[in-house]
Amino acid sequence: MISEKLNNLQNDIPENVTLVAVSKTKPIEDLKDAFEAGQRAFGENKVQEMCTKWEHLPKEIEWHFIGHLQRNKVKYLASFVGLIHGVESFRLLKEINKQAKKNDRTIEVLLQFFIANEETKFGLSFEEAKTMLQSDEFKSLDNVCIRGVMGMATFTDEKEQIKREFSGLKKIHQELSTDFFNEQTNFDVISMGMSGDYKIAIEEGSTMIRLGSSIFGKRD
Ligand SMILES: *Cc1c(COP(=O)(O)O)cnc(C)c1O
Repeated sequence: MISEKLNNLQNDIPENVTLVAVSKTKPIEDLKDAFEAGQRAFGENKVQEMCTKWEHLPKEIEWHFIGHLQRNKVKYLASFVGLIHGVESFRLLKEINKQAKKNDRTIEVLLQFFIANEETKFGLSFEEAKTMLQSDEFKSLDNVCIRGVMGMATFTDEKEQIKREFSGLKKIHQELSTDFFNEQTNFDVISMGMSGDYKIAIEEGSTMIRLGSSIFGKRD
């Protein structure tokens, strides 16, 4: 049962780690069950699906967009999205800023880094991120707030490799934090860890884990 799984997980993870329930492909009823069990942060990776679920569920829910976000779709979620995990280009960040401004709000985002040994995973390199953060154009973006970093490890059974990739992301976070953010800016999120690797992620310093199948069961 969903509520039981959530309770067990909540007992299992440290207090400073936020659990995002990844509800992609799952029916509204499953999200309702999780909501009733106290879950507030939900992760989706398709814009249309997230918008439909947002319409049908309580407005207290914090919606996390965790997928690859196309620039032309930012406008559909800009009024309500809580956190966009996957910012992997300056152009996307600028579009988010533009749509946030139209909605008279600030949108919180994470910079996605490429940490895996796989070509299919999106993300910035450390150098790209630094160049962006140093630029005057970046400093003029008043309607986005960068809350931290996000990354996905390689899909493998090699624990040491996963550990290395997560600790690499932690290091990126630390360096950016020192160079570009001060204590007032709340650059405090490290989003890493999924159902298969969240324990390693927590050991390596994760503050936000994104779990789907371990809460809702396998996806089709
Ligand atoms: C689907 C997905 C998850 C959750 O995956 P599980 O293995 O089901 O926990 C986490 N993060 C991202 C970016 C995803 O797309």
